[in-house]
Amino acid sequence: MGSNNRISVYSNNFDRLWKAHSEEVLADVKIVGESGWYILGKEVESFESALAEYTNTAFTVGCANGMDAIEMSLRALGVKAGDKVITTPLSAFATALAIIRAGAEPVFVDVDEFGLICPKAVEAALSEFSNVSCIVPVHLYGHLADMRALSDIADKYGVVIVEDAAQGIGASRGGIRAGQLGATGCISFYPTKNLCALGDGGAIITDDKALADSLRTIRNYGQSEHYTHDVIGLNSRLDEVQAGILRRTMLKHLDIWIKRRREIAAKYLSEIKHSAVTTLGGPDPAGSVWHLFPVLIPAEKRLAFIDFLKKAGIQSGMHYPILIPDQKAIRNHMSPHIFDKLECAKVFSDCEVSLPINPFLSEGEVEYVIATINEWQG
Ligand SMILES: *Cc1c(COP(=O)(O)O)cnc(C)c1O
Repeated sequence: MGSNNRISVYSNNFDRLWKAHSEEVLADVKIVGESGWYILGKEVESFESALAEYTNTAFTVGCANGMDAIEMSLRALGVKAGDKVITTPLSAFATALAIIRAGAEPVFVDVDEFGLICPKAVEAALSEFSNVSCIVPVHLYGHLADMRALSDIADKYGVVIVEDAAQGIGASRGGIRAGQLGATGCISFYPTKNLCALGDGGAIITDDKALADSLRTIRNYGQSEHYTHDVIGLNSRLDEVQAGILRRTMLKHLDIWIKRRREIAAKYLSEIKHSAVTTLGGPDPAGSVWHLFPVLIPAEKRLAFIDFLKKAGIQSGMHYPILIPDQKAIRNHMSPHIFDKLECAKVFSDCEVSLPINPFLSEGEVEYVIATINEWQG
């Protein structure tokens, strides 16, 4: 194993997903194809109901991707030009991009030891900045942000919460579920995500009927009835074929996939033993859905560690090596609002490495990753 840098343990095993479920998926495609109805029909409706049930929320609105889910939530909640939205610098760029697309200005605050937005920093930023109308926490790595604390703070300051649950579908923390306390929860079905489509897809979950109705209008050109456009909307619809695949096949396997991710995480947590490799656990490891498995490596050794894994045939990632406010697109667009020094977030951007974790990894592969790391001479 590992000769010629051939990768043998992958972050994602799309080939194995296809091998295990292609017959089901092809049957789903056939049903939708034969129905002759491809946009906003019964498949999207049925999937929305199934997802509402799975996430224990009243309403679900399918849309084109996770980023649109955030942008449309902000718009539906009345976030407008000149508003500020507090979020984390440590996330997919899409989180901040959605805020900017909605016309608002992101305010970046620091994260905690798990990489999740820090409620104390959020509260401090709320007292420092005016015109904040919303908080966008991210359930990074599959750990729920501290929604109870954030929700208390949001109530105190009269702001709303839009949860970026792109990495957190099914996650919970101290009995609180993803999407439960925020005005909306935003989900992505990008193929690497825990619940995956065969392409792009997204959804918004909410308990608020008026908000759900407004989101249905916004996702379809702002159209309330045929040829009646009440607001400036988007074209952000979930395809019937993706909805069919998601409900008829993927959603049925999600709990088993999450269980397997938790088993792998537990094994990494108990068996990786190396003085230069810090595993992190989570705020509620049993409630986390382990979209990623982050470890911290001293900054000066990180590239050597990644290279060592690669030579052993193990793929790894970094989430995220550049903080959002340091991205050129942001710097050239605005002088970003930054609260305090983002010290913890910098530790993640300098030191984090994501180990392979996906439901299709074999026990042997997981053990190989552990043994390889424990033997690293770094
Ligand atoms: C993937 C992701 C998004 C964006 O989702 P898309 O479906 O790719 O638009 C947003 N936020 C986070 C945290 C993500 O991981």
